[in-house]
Amino acid sequence: MTIPFNKPYLTGKETHYIYEAVKSGKISGNGIFTKKCQQFFEEKYGFKKVLLTTSCTDALEMAAILTNIELDDEVIMPSYTFVSTAIAFVRQGAKIVFADSYVDNPNMNADAIEALITPKTKAIVPVHYAGVACDMDKIMELAAKYNLLVIEDAAQAIDSFYTGKDGVKRALGSIGHLAAFSFHETKNIISGEGGMLTINYEKFIHRAEIIWEKGTNRAEFFRGEVNKYAWVDTGSSFLPSEVIAAFLWAQIENLEDIQSRRLKIWNAYFENLKDWALLNNIKMPAIPEYATNNAHMFYLTCENIEQRSAIIENLKSNNILAVFHYLSLHSSPFYAQKHDGRIMPETDRYTDCLVRLPLFYELNEDLVINQLNKIF
Ligand SMILES: *Cc1c(COP(=O)(O)O)cnc(C)c1O
Repeated sequence: MTIPFNKPYLTGKETHYIYEAVKSGKISGNGIFTKKCQQFFEEKYGFKKVLLTTSCTDALEMAAILTNIELDDEVIMPSYTFVSTAIAFVRQGAKIVFADSYVDNPNMNADAIEALITPKTKAIVPVHYAGVACDMDKIMELAAKYNLLVIEDAAQAIDSFYTGKDGVKRALGSIGHLAAFSFHETKNIISGEGGMLTINYEKFIHRAEIIWEKGTNRAEFFRGEVNKYAWVDTGSSFLPSEVIAAFLWAQIENLEDIQSRRLKIWNAYFENLKDWALLNNIKMPAIPEYATNNAHMFYLTCENIEQRSAIIENLKSNNILAVFHYLSLHSSPFYAQKHDGRIMPETDRYTDCLVRLPLFYELNEDLVINQLNKIF
């Protein structure tokens, strides 16, 4: 039997809650399950306001609209990330200014950001790669100094935290002005496709609801605050149906169990591969002191692309699927011509050398560990 790279985990209650949603007679968006999910995240993680969306990509698009990113504005983000991080801002006409990764962690190097800021810079978009926090103190300080907005791409970062210099531990997604999460089936908790926008800057909340509901003040109408709803702004249909929210609610109920199982697998990988990795010049994941580990991903950084290909091939011939990802955005077919030409050595190294191991609830991690220990 093949061990897949990912297998979406079902808690068993998904269809039950979907049935409840369907039976309630209200299956469009912003119903009971949507409100339950939003409230849960607001209370557990200290987000000022949460709006469920149909994807993290959509949440990022909402953020780009909310922050009034326009033609020729500049947005700073890592090159080593998923396409959605950039595309939400590119659709608004923005120019993407890429920052290189750290040497020992794929996150964007916070010390390299200030040199990239110009009078046209509008926002910084840190991506918490593998759910491991970026250096948010440094990023928020730069944002305050240059009057920029910070939009966290927290797609992978549910249930992960950052401890700042003040000693306070804050949930990722609660620190920037806005943040976007994903519930795609490859993430820790899922709804097939799905996401959420968190709004931590009070001034954005009112307009976010309007953009969410096709540019109308329908949310206010349903709360009885206005007696007719109208077209008042730009927007789109960013809200998911109650069927999606009902699915997500079953996952939320099992969040702790899912997280503890994923952490157990992650720790088993770490403990049982570290000697093998050292022997073969392979780097294990590094988690900075200020960050927690939400066990979104287990990755290895190989010595070179040949070694990585050998590992992937060996695992594949033993029916284990490991994958690599992120072809650097700065050298992508779509953006290479628009990029300013700066080289990104660390980003390129992760593109060539990083490999992700299978990590899902029902995985038998010993099979993967045993096979890796046999290689070389
Ligand atoms: C998964 C992911 C996205 C996209 O999420 P969707 O919900 O599929 O739109 C964006 N950014 C990062 C870093 C991701 O890992």
